[in-house]
Formats: sequence, C-alpha cells, structure tokens
Amino acid sequence: MSVLTAAAASSVRTPLPVLGRDVTVPLVTGGEVTYAALDYAASAPALQRVWDDVAAYAPYYGSVHRGAGYLSQLSTDLFEKARTTVAEFLDCRDGDQVVFTRSTTDSLNLLAAALPAGCQVFVFETEHHASLLPWRNADVTYLDAPRTPEQAVATLERALAEREQGPALVCVTGASNVTGELWPVRELSAAAHAHGARIVLDAAQLAPHHPVSVRELDVDWVAFSGHKLYAPFGTGVLAGRADWLRAAEPYLAGGGASRKVARRADGGVDVEWHDSAARHEAGSPNVIGAHAVASACKALAEEGFDRLVARERYLIRKVREGLAEVPEVRVLSLFGDDAPRVGVISFVVEGWNSSHLAAALSAEYGIGVRDGLFCAHPLVRTLLGSEPQIQGECGAPEAAPGEKSLNAIRVSFGAGT
Ligand code: PLP
Repeated sequence: MSVLTAAAASSVRTPLPVLGRDVTVPLVTGGEVTYAALDYAASAPALQRVWDDVAAYAPYYGSVHRGAGYLSQLSTDLFEKARTTVAEFLDCRDGDQVVFTRSTTDSLNLLAAALPAGCQVFVFETEHHASLLPWRNADVTYLDAPRTPEQAVATLERALAEREQGPALVCVTGASNVTGELWPVRELSAAAHAHGARIVLDAAQLAPHHPVSVRELDVDWVAFSGHKLYAPFGTGVLAGRADWLRAAEPYLAGGGASRKVARRADGGVDVEWHDSAARHEAGSPNVIGAHAVASACKALAEEGFDRLVARERYLIRKVREGLAEVPEVRVLSLFGDDAPRVGVISFVVEGWNSSHLAAALSAEYGIGVRDGLFCAHPLVRTLLGSEPQIQGECGAPEAAPGEKSLNAIRVSFGAGT
C-alpha cells in the first residue's frame, strides 16, 4: 500500500494549493505522520485561495436581500456576483438560472420537485443515490448498467424510443464516484434531445476535475457541490433552463422566495412568488458558501484545467501501476481499464475486508481513504459481482478477514494532492 503514500508525496508541483497539506496525525504504531488526504471524492479540502477569500469577506458579513445597511448591500452584491461567476464557470446560456442550494443532493431533489406533471424520468442504475433516488415520486425508468459508453447511449436511445409522449428527463453522471470513469454526456444529451427529453448532468465528480460547459455538452441542467469543488462552506448549485423552475412551486416556501403576500377577503393568504432563482432559495441565503463556490470557480478557471488534468493522469498511472503489483487487487471498472477517468479509483483486495484495510491505512500510515459502497449500492453490486452486505445508507459492511470482499476501498485526489 506504500504506493498511495508515494503518489501523494510525489514531488511534481501541485497545480493549486489547498489547506491541510501539512496536518500531522498520530499513528497507532507510535509517532506522527503528515496526513495523506486521498478522499477528495467524498469531500475536498478548501483551496488556499477560497479560504483567503472567505476570510477577507468575513468581517463584512451581512444579511442578503434583507438590509439597507452597507454590509447588507455589500453582501447582496457579493451573493449576486457569485451567481454570475458560477454561470460563467459553467458556460451557461443566456436566460439560464443559477440556483444556490446546499449540495448536489439538494439540487437534484429541487429539480425532482419541479418536474412538470406526467414527466417520465430515465436514470441508469449505476448512479450515485443522489441521482438515483430523488425521482421516486415520478414515472421513473431505471436503466441497466452499460458495459461500454456506446452501450449507455444505445440503452438510453432504446428506452426513450419506447416512451410515452409527454415531458421527460434523463439524469446522468459526468464522472462516476466509484470508478472515476467519464460518461458520454454529449452523446447522451444528443440522444435525449433527439427524443424530446431533457437532461440533467450530475457534475459532482466531474466539475472538480474537468471544465463543464452547459453549451458544449448541451445539457439542460447541471448540479454540483461546493464541498467537492474545494469550497466546503455548505453551498451547492443547480444551473440551467429557467422554464421548469419558474413554473414550479417554490422548493421551500418562505421569505425571499415570495414577492408579495396578502390576506384574502376569505381569510386565506395569496402569494406571488419570484420568477428568478430566488423562487427556490427561501430563507436567508448562505452568502459565505456562495462566495466560496465563486472563489473556487474563479481559481479553477484562472488556473485552467490542463495542469490539473495532467497531474491527475500522472497520479492515476502511479496508483494503478502500484496496485497492479499486488495480485489480489482488483480495480473496479465498468467501461474497462483504458476508459478515460478522473482521479477516483476503487478496488478490492480479494480475500480481505476493505473496511479493515481502510482502517489500517489510516491508523498505521496516516492515509485517509473511503471504504464501503459509496452511496451507489446497485453499481457496486454489479462491479463486485456479489451481493454486498449493506449496513446503513452509506455504511461499510463487515466481512471476516479472508472472506470474499463485500465492499471496496476508494482512493481519490485532485488539486493539491
Ligand atoms: N453525485 C455524485 C456523483 C457524487 O459523488 C455525490 C457525492 O458523493 C453526490 C452526487 C452527492 O453529493 P452531495 O453529498 O454533496 O449532495
């Protein structure tokens, strides 16, 4: 397993500095070691730039859209500018809305709540639960796991060709949180649109590693989480077409979403909701979170993804070469070893309990990885070729040492690794 430490400690210059690179942690074997954070797919540390921008703004914090004072004006301005920055980062179309949410999960649940009546939803069973589960109150079709990107497109084409007339939505991930593999988003969006369906891109794992252009990918919406994009301050994003969002009831009812509220003669209450993104942002917004996301977007855009991607390819190669030296290791992959991927690698060590290995990596080497089923139970079940033992939603199942693996280990990295 020293390959993980070697890769993390490599001397190739990191593209963007993050916080916490020098944190030392105690080892059970005695002494301390510099922590190797290899769990970016779960949550990434803040970029130094994000931290600096948040700290610079913090003394000027004030309420957003709710105050006449200088700090309220400044905070409102910052919040709205953050929207523009995110729209630029995602290369949104004119008229697209950027709604600030709590996370990708929140964004997709918002969209699920905004589906037009009778909307059919198509989603691959391989999705993260955040993309798999929000549609359960709709007419949802779960598509079987494809074994090639071409098969993914063909599967979707077939399902859409057989669908009833009416509104439809396809939900697809850009990069898998289990295998790191890139999905053929452009081709899937072409298939969706050819059949009169819309498409939402779950970019939770894609956006931190690759440029995401709403226009080029031709997706109707994109969702991502600030905490995976080096901005862990509680904000996510749903960006895209305004019409379904405008037509829907507000995701949350309350102040900020409502333009006008009045008592009716019959004693009830009439409400006029905003048409803008504010419609789905009731309550006092998380201005620090939005500012942090905007700061990360700017930092990534200024740096450009080229160096980030090159560095990540190098790390992927190093980790995979090291893992290939251990005969018992099986790297999990849906599309095959050569499929393009981001810095997310899951594997099992046959005969070993992944949870015990992950605990040992932490306790004995100071390496932080994720073990379990990665909130993608159907996908991990397919990849393991066995029934995983599920304990809790995202939990790590137990197996006695020597038993077949019931779960996997995931190493993931990004800027700053
Ligand atoms: N989609 C993918 C592909 C993910 O990897 C994750 C989180 O791991 C999510 C959605 C959910 O993100 P969040 O927990 O920030 O809502």
